Amino acid sequence: IVEHGTPRREVITTCAYCGVGCAFKAEMQGEEIVRMTPWKNGGANEGHSCVKGRFAFGYATHKDRVLTPMVREKITDPWRPVDWEEAIGFAARRLLEIRDEHGAGAIGGITSSRCTNEEVYVVQKMIRAAFGNNNVDTCARVCHSPTGYGLKTTLGTSAGTQDFKSVDKSDVILVIGANPTDAHPVFGSRMKKRLRQGAKLIVADPRRIDLVRSPHVRAEHHLQLRPGTNVALMNALAHVIVTEGLVNEAFVAERCDMTEFERWRGFVAEERNSPEALSEILGVPADELRAAARLYATGGNAAIYYGLGVTEHSQGSTMVMAMANLAMATGNIGHDGVGINPLRGQNNVQGSCDMGSFPHEFTGYRHVSDKEVRSTFEADWGVTLDAEPGLRIPNMFASALDGSFRGLYVQGEDIAQSDPNTRHVTAALKALDLLIVQDLFLNETALYAHVFLPGTSFLEKDGTFTNAERRINRVRPVMREQQGMSEWETVCRISEAMGYPMTYENEAEIMDEIARLTPTFALVSHARLDAEGSMQWPVNEAHPDGSPIMHVDGFVRGKGRFMVTEYVPTEERANRRFPLILTTGRILSQYNVGAQTRRTENSLWHPEDSLEIHPFDAEERGVADGDLVAITSRVGQTTLRAMVSERMPQGVVYTTFHHPFSGANVITTDYSDWATNCPEFKVTAVQVMPTNRP
Ligand code: SF4
Repeated sequence: IVEHGTPRREVITTCAYCGVGCAFKAEMQGEEIVRMTPWKNGGANEGHSCVKGRFAFGYATHKDRVLTPMVREKITDPWRPVDWEEAIGFAARRLLEIRDEHGAGAIGGITSSRCTNEEVYVVQKMIRAAFGNNNVDTCARVCHSPTGYGLKTTLGTSAGTQDFKSVDKSDVILVIGANPTDAHPVFGSRMKKRLRQGAKLIVADPRRIDLVRSPHVRAEHHLQLRPGTNVALMNALAHVIVTEGLVNEAFVAERCDMTEFERWRGFVAEERNSPEALSEILGVPADELRAAARLYATGGNAAIYYGLGVTEHSQGSTMVMAMANLAMATGNIGHDGVGINPLRGQNNVQGSCDMGSFPHEFTGYRHVSDKEVRSTFEADWGVTLDAEPGLRIPNMFASALDGSFRGLYVQGEDIAQSDPNTRHVTAALKALDLLIVQDLFLNETALYAHVFLPGTSFLEKDGTFTNAERRINRVRPVMREQQGMSEWETVCRISEAMGYPMTYENEAEIMDEIARLTPTFALVSHARLDAEGSMQWPVNEAHPDGSPIMHVDGFVRGKGRFMVTEYVPTEERANRRFPLILTTGRILSQYNVGAQTRRTENSLWHPEDSLEIHPFDAEERGVADGDLVAITSRVGQTTLRAMVSERMPQGVVYTTFHHPFSGANVITTDYSDWATNCPEFKVTAVQVMPTNRP
């Protein structure tokens, strides 16, 4: 296309925001991006988009982008701009010094779900092969790590079971701890369309999200449970299914481990798990619980969709397993319209987990202690690999504070803002001898860094993102790298400077290596994705064209495994001093810590975070709509503007976490999921009082 004498180019690429993974046509005029148009052939979005993907791309060329590498000896020194060679040499030399003096275990890194599969893969390879340990973790630690644990334990694989299209065949939709119309808008619209066609909706959420009551959509049941009681809710629903004869006995007998099933059946049948016994704990009437359970079990194809309101709890992993129990007991798994579907927050959170970013797993979720798997990687990479799992992010912080962990590489994540208990996190970062941050902007974490390596936006990347339905989407460069070097190349050069060369011609070669070493990616290549379009893993000999739905003929682990899910109340309790429970979430126009959307016009819609509070709780404290309020928890205090709202039940308040100055994580605690250490962001006991201080 030629317009005003300048050729116009079109490039098909993938949105860099949420886990829906919408495909867009990026239209360029010279080096200017003119428009992002949702692509009608996009497997995940079929021509639809939301205000983030469509309009919030201006951050890629924002004046705040840092395009020159920088170093400094101490974090109190001013930054010194340097060339790439000096920055890479500085980072590699300091990493080697720490490794030599304190041992390989003293260094590690964190991968980013905003980066491509190829970029994430080379980071975990550098850590395993050049650093010499498994101290690699990913930002999924603070969001969906319980999904990985819970689904792998019960079904055998750490991923959702369905494609998005599957919802078109659902008769009952159970949404738990998710707000799809704000956080996953394109999929939220698809779900609403199905609801308008007559599917029944059950919402389990302390807050009255839009789906509960919006034009033409009304939930049959809004189970407005108290924060922290998810597992009790599942047990109550399971009790009804088991004691009222609603189990799909044929499915269970054919597909599941019967010993585990009978153990679970006996447990949930106990009177203490009945709706009547749990009603008060949940704050939900027993007859509503019974009706919701009957609808889920007998209403036809029933699908569960869930978000961080499930995972970010001290029982996040237990809850994921409890949902799997429910789906298996009713036969709602393995075909269209059903399943257990995590709505992934970040564009590539599924991919960053798939790519071996966990301290205990190689690509494809294979344990580092598995000798056969490890020797495959050792033969391919030409190194001896550590058989011991490495440090998780919270362990890295704790070890930094006790002096045993001293050097950290952070790829595109603002841990100083996104992780809980900010004071604890920043104390750990300050204690490091070396912090390397690779990012687009000088974020909150970079305040404590010694090396800053400029990153690339999605418009400069070549590679793949994997969305919430396991769909591997191509990401194609729309413009040249603004800072002069691709991120994977930076990583390869640090690795080489440390004595372990990683040589690739391009991103396609990295994907070829991933496919060679990862059975679920065995038949994936850039060439195939370019020719045939996106594909859903596993893509291998058994599934040459990919797998829209998993566990069709049997579970990946063999027999489905029922797990006993004892409800254990969280240790974070309200009391007279902290009488309210704070929970957190997202809003449509902004995204996570806001590093990108705050630098676009989307900020006009949501210029600050606010605190939603029930009218009674507000009146009791003399708080009016729009007043500034101080929110105090056991670990800190912050200030927000009050939004008096009947969306909230009494005793529960809610905020978003898109702006650093409101610092929601200044007040969140260190409690975390028992299995994965995913922080308990959704339950913080607080007091709220009027204040004049901004
Ligand atoms: Fe991007 Fe998600 Fe919006 Fe799609 S729904 S345009 S992937 S933010």
